[in-house]
Amino acid sequence: MASILYLTAAVCFIFALKGLSSAESARHGNICGICGMTIACVSAYLDIGNFDVCFVLSAVFIGGIIGISIAQTVSMTNLPQMIAGFHSLVGLAAVLIAFSIYFAPDLFGMASSTGMNTFSLLEMTLGSIIGAITFSGSMVAFLKLHGSYKEHGVPLKLNIFFASSMFCSLIYFMLTKNAVAFFLSTGCAFILGASMIMPIGGADMPVVVSMLNSYSGWAASGIGFTLHNDLLIITGALVGASGAILSYIMCKGMNRSLRDVIFPSEQEVFDETKTSQSKPFKLGAPEDAAFILKNASSVIIVPGYGMATSQAQHALKEMGDILKKEGISVKYAIHPVAGRMPGHMNVLLAEANVPYEDVFELDEINRDFSSCDVAYVVGANDVTNPAAKKDASCQIYGMPILEVEKAKVILFLKRSMGAGYAGVDNDLFYASNTMMLLGDAKKTTESIVKVM
Ligand code: NDP
Repeated sequence: MASILYLTAAVCFIFALKGLSSAESARHGNICGICGMTIACVSAYLDIGNFDVCFVLSAVFIGGIIGISIAQTVSMTNLPQMIAGFHSLVGLAAVLIAFSIYFAPDLFGMASSTGMNTFSLLEMTLGSIIGAITFSGSMVAFLKLHGSYKEHGVPLKLNIFFASSMFCSLIYFMLTKNAVAFFLSTGCAFILGASMIMPIGGADMPVVVSMLNSYSGWAASGIGFTLHNDLLIITGALVGASGAILSYIMCKGMNRSLRDVIFPSEQEVFDETKTSQSKPFKLGAPEDAAFILKNASSVIIVPGYGMATSQAQHALKEMGDILKKEGISVKYAIHPVAGRMPGHMNVLLAEANVPYEDVFELDEINRDFSSCDVAYVVGANDVTNPAAKKDASCQIYGMPILEVEKAKVILFLKRSMGAGYAGVDNDLFYASNTMMLLGDAKKTTESIVKVM
């Protein structure tokens, strides 16, 4: 019975992943995921049989309340750090389960750790090590995304030292089953997870978040082998594989290799002195922007992180609708890493009921900029920065960008002349065909709508 339920839950998770691959089916995907998780919990309890119902129900109740309150209070702009925070919990859970298996194997109906075979010990230790790396790495990613921590270089030698100590203690543990070696390997993994993520630049954080997602899956899978729990193995592998594929796709989208992301060179570390040059630029008012937009025949809207912070999506939709009524073509261009999480812009535009057929990915829209009259850039910066094509020393070099510079006029909505997430100044602000509209993106767009 439990096996059939496990299989059903696994199928639900596969449909959930399939649904989450596009904005139209994401809601359906989420429902499949919820069903899968409910079946998984019930079947796990049936499988274990002998457990304290009150204890489990209290844990589910308390966890549920915390989850609901976080989901209701977290703002769209804080979702990436929330995801990083949740990944850290998966990692910590893997470590705690591995320690419980080692110190109280009877709780899981297993032989004592001294009686465990080499494979079970290896799976348990790998689960614990990967979980520890995921936990501390995700905590550093959380702090960075929250803006409380900027990257700092960590000498490669130090990372090599901790990595070798971790592997040596792992091998010693496998040979002797010595508890100190088990503690040591997990302790080194905790330090390694943090020190590996510390030097990674801001622009690479999307890849890091999906990579940590992948790690959390492999950690769960490793523990699943030790517990002989098929569902944990399958689910962990699904999360691990999908996170790895997403990291690969994002690296491709940013034209970076995973190696360059994980081991950034010294020059890639954030350099604040590169930002905010004082050069002349053209400052416009909402009236100027409204006039330019109404006289255009095609407009491409480029949303970025600033649209999310200002929640300008509804005002944008209103502006787009007015322009469309006047016979002007309106399209939305989405960069794969715009905002602070994969799909960030798609979610916000969908929330404002922007039709899916008006939304285009980078590859589909880039050739349209050269024939478009106005590029309306709403709080996007790095994803439009031509330095990514020209300046080999800058952090975003090689990342494909939305080629807004090819539009006849560029309207740039942001609050200041400051740099974006990667800390690289954007020469487009000073271009002859650019008009800067400084201020909150939502308020500026609303003012434009008013005078249209
Ligand atoms: P950027 O961070 O490059 O630029 C956003 C711009 O929005 C800023 O320059 C800021 O300028 C402006 N802004 C902020 N608040 C407002 C507001 N209220 N009104 C108007 N403007 C505002 O964002 P992009 O979307 O262009 O690029 C995303 C960056 O984030 C990339 O470097 C990417 O690698 C990184 N990243 C992406 C993740 C993902 O998964 N998508 C995850 C983590 C990082 P000002 O302060 O002057 O207003």
